[in-house]
Amino acid sequence: MRLVVIGGVAAGLSAAARARRIDKSLDITVLEKGDWISWAACGLPYYIGGQTKSLDDLVRYTPEQFARERNITVRTRAEAAVIAHSRREVVLNGGEKIHYDRLVIATGARPALGGIEGIEQKHIFTLNTLSDARRLREFICARRPRTAAVIGGGYVGLEAVEALRANGLKVTLISKDSRILGRGDATLTNAVTAQLERFGVEFRTGTIVRKIDSIPHDLVVLATGFKPNIEIAADGGIEIGRTGAIRVTERMETNLSGVFAAGDCAEATHLVTGRAAYIPLGTTANKMGRVAGACAAGARESFPGVVGTLIVRVCGLGVGMTGLAPGQAKSEGFDVVSTVIEAPVRPGYYTEYHGSQKTQIELVADRKTGRLLGGTVIGDEGVAGRVNVIATALHARIKVDEFAQFDFAYAPPFAPVWDPLLIAAQQLEKLL
Ligand SMILES: Cc1cc2nc3c(=O)[nH]c(=O)nc-3n(C[C@H](O)[C@H](O)[C@H](O)COP(=O)(O)OP(=O)(O)OC[C@H]3O[C@@H](n4cnc5c(N)ncnc54)[C@H](O)[C@@H]3O)c2cc1C
Repeated sequence: MRLVVIGGVAAGLSAAARARRIDKSLDITVLEKGDWISWAACGLPYYIGGQTKSLDDLVRYTPEQFARERNITVRTRAEAAVIAHSRREVVLNGGEKIHYDRLVIATGARPALGGIEGIEQKHIFTLNTLSDARRLREFICARRPRTAAVIGGGYVGLEAVEALRANGLKVTLISKDSRILGRGDATLTNAVTAQLERFGVEFRTGTIVRKIDSIPHDLVVLATGFKPNIEIAADGGIEIGRTGAIRVTERMETNLSGVFAAGDCAEATHLVTGRAAYIPLGTTANKMGRVAGACAAGARESFPGVVGTLIVRVCGLGVGMTGLAPGQAKSEGFDVVSTVIEAPVRPGYYTEYHGSQKTQIELVADRKTGRLLGGTVIGDEGVAGRVNVIATALHARIKVDEFAQFDFAYAPPFAPVWDPLLIAAQQLEKLL
């Protein structure tokens, strides 16, 4: 039996590797249209910022390693052009036909450029691939630009801002609205705006960029979001969901039997709303890929969904979020109650690190059921840990009064006796 995987990064390679672990006898071929496989887009901003020294460090595996260690054939410069499911064939760009019994589509996403005019100019960049990052780094080194504009207030835009500031550029962040990180959350927006100001970044909201020429900067980074690569799937008769990404079941199977999809090209169930969502992230792509690979190899595994957990560093400030922001919860029909607290991350008497460090926590709940719906954590320390706790609670559909009783660790070097999460939960309990 032959498994063909289209796409050789997070979702595609997770699928291929998992399928191999389940069935040693499968014939597995991965098709990747680019020159590289298994590289970490997540590291690109840190290559620009100087925390990652070489682009080679971002590449985890080579096709040779996959062949040698896993008996998986990985073909680069092999672009799938057509999926002909009635014949169980993938047709490559050059006309070569590859038969499959099972197929995993892991074609990822590309920058959503939204028809901006003038983006072909030499000082305009996206930050999605290794070659994007190489070109941007070379431009910075060779041309020594002094000013930069970043278009888009999502996490890629914010990471690009930090990376460009690290190179000494004067940066302007341009966003069509003040919905930082697509969340429409006043607490989050205010904290991020203040941090940007502190770092001398101009934040211009309410500006829809239609022409690059209207932005007089030495360098422009377009970070205007992602668009799922669904075209060959859609042309092949695969159903696209209302989010614009490929619709899949919990087993990552599409409407065509034996054809699976995973990663940034597919949608996932949002476990708080129960509805399909498109939240393309590496962590999700890996999990979806594993399940798609397992099921394609004949196992019965499932991927229940996501709660939308994301963390980003904005000029040194940690910002984590999960579930729904108050406005999002309201538009999903919940009776929203929320609270924002600020509390120290250690007892005041313990001064070994930074004596007075504080973290800001926002928790969101449903008044009717008392269920926790989301949270935001902002601070310099402990952000990932705390936002992951909230994410865990969302997965378990925990109520606020249960959350307020969680048994968290306490010792002065690590946390205060009342963890900020517990303080926020108690505050929210009072409001419910
Ligand atoms: C700058 C940046 C920072 C990020 N930071 C984070 C982070 O901190 N945390 C996080 O969770 N996520 C992060 N992400 C997102 C994460 O990188 C993606 O979610 C992840 O790479 C998705 O993996 P994927 O395999 O679904 O798709 P991709 O990584 O997009 O891979 C898809 C592959 O399929 C290939 N392909 C497409 N069409 C075809 C075809 N027709 N034939 C053959 N091959 C094809 C493409 O060339 C590509 O190599 C970041 C992304 C970017 C751009």
